[in-house]
Amino acid sequence: MKSMKKLAYHFGIKLRFYPSTKQKQMIKQNYDAQRFVYNQYVGANRLIYHLKRTSKAKQLNSGLPFVMMKMTKYEIEAANRLIEKQELTAKPKNIRDKYDFLRRKEIDSLAIANAIQNYRKAWHNYRKIGHGIPSFHKKSNSWSYQTNCQYPGQKEAYLDNGTVRFIDHKHVKLPKLGIVRIAGLRPLIKERLLNHVSIKIGTVSIKKTADDQFYLSLQLGSDTAFVKSYPKTNSQIGIDLNLDNFLTDSNGVVVANPRFYRKSKRKLAKAQRVLARRQRRAKKEGRNLYQAKNYQKQRLIVARLHDKIRRQRNDFLQVLSTALIKNHDLVVAEELRSRNLLKNHALSQAVSDVGWRSFLNMLAYKADLYGKKFLTIDPKYTTQRCHACGSIMGQNGYKKLTLQARKWTCPVCKNKHIRDWNAAVNILEKGQGIWENPQIKAA
Ligand SMILES: [Zn+2]
Repeated sequence: MKSMKKLAYHFGIKLRFYPSTKQKQMIKQNYDAQRFVYNQYVGANRLIYHLKRTSKAKQLNSGLPFVMMKMTKYEIEAANRLIEKQELTAKPKNIRDKYDFLRRKEIDSLAIANAIQNYRKAWHNYRKIGHGIPSFHKKSNSWSYQTNCQYPGQKEAYLDNGTVRFIDHKHVKLPKLGIVRIAGLRPLIKERLLNHVSIKIGTVSIKKTADDQFYLSLQLGSDTAFVKSYPKTNSQIGIDLNLDNFLTDSNGVVVANPRFYRKSKRKLAKAQRVLARRQRRAKKEGRNLYQAKNYQKQRLIVARLHDKIRRQRNDFLQVLSTALIKNHDLVVAEELRSRNLLKNHALSQAVSDVGWRSFLNMLAYKADLYGKKFLTIDPKYTTQRCHACGSIMGQNGYKKLTLQARKWTCPVCKNKHIRDWNAAVNILEKGQGIWENPQIKAA
């Protein structure tokens, strides 16, 4: 059986489902187990970091290139704890052997394996993309854990023969949880289920939102395309993502920032103030938050508003990314450099707000799905270069463009430019390889 990666087409689906009270409890237990294991890893790592720092400080204080000083009692203790933790986190089995509750029959062993994988992924994201260092997962009102579909003894993968499988178009069987009723299976998937098309189910996420809705997210892979490719358009486009507008493309079209959810955001801010007030009051009167009725009511209102804003933003990004992929054979954008962006807090807030990263992910995903091409390029010089003659501002005695310069005239070829538009053309041409080979453009 082919691995997920080797399959030609990939697709993700999200299904709402309706667990029983007992199933809800099991979901909570698995969520707790996954969080617990994840946090064990974070804890071990924090300790290593801390020990490294104290030994480094000692080394500096000693003025010697190495340290032969006696360890303090505290350090010996910490080192011992570390050895213990490292042994514990060396194998998933070790953690399960130590903690009884992880061996209970309700606990999905794949949830624990996924905790470790998630932790490694978090480190990868930190190193490669510049996300924060993996931190402790706090207890939350929204739960989630991952499991995987396996196909023991099967030659070919289908939607109905794995450890996660469709019983019919209204029911799914899940590891440990058993059968759950689902709502609204997309016709696209339903058709493949009925016609017995070979589709492999990969990672499965089981989630509860803060307002108590349950969802299944399934990763699917197949050698049969899930959707028809979009026809070729012989059009290529570059997009410049910036803060003044959402994007400017290489044809000079400007897409404004999704400010339409500003109103929802104002509402959210107000609802959050009410929530904070009720929390303070409950605390003052010594009441448990879980029993504080008004607080819980308000918590749901806040959760629903969050959900609404997330959906509004998602809709905007979906529509825009589909249009770009549908209308062009090649889309080129800049790589996001969050490591640099994050240094500037105001900017990083805006970046997370407009959702550039999920936008680029959508473009990559849809290009793959619909038979188009999506590229990201290094943003170096894309703003400072004149696309007409290739001169770069800030070089050869030309003054660098400032952030305020919306429009400028190239001092070499005298062409007039709108900054973002010029950048979008540069992005496209860099993706097309014109920067290195200008003759492509001439031809
Ligand atoms: Zn020029």
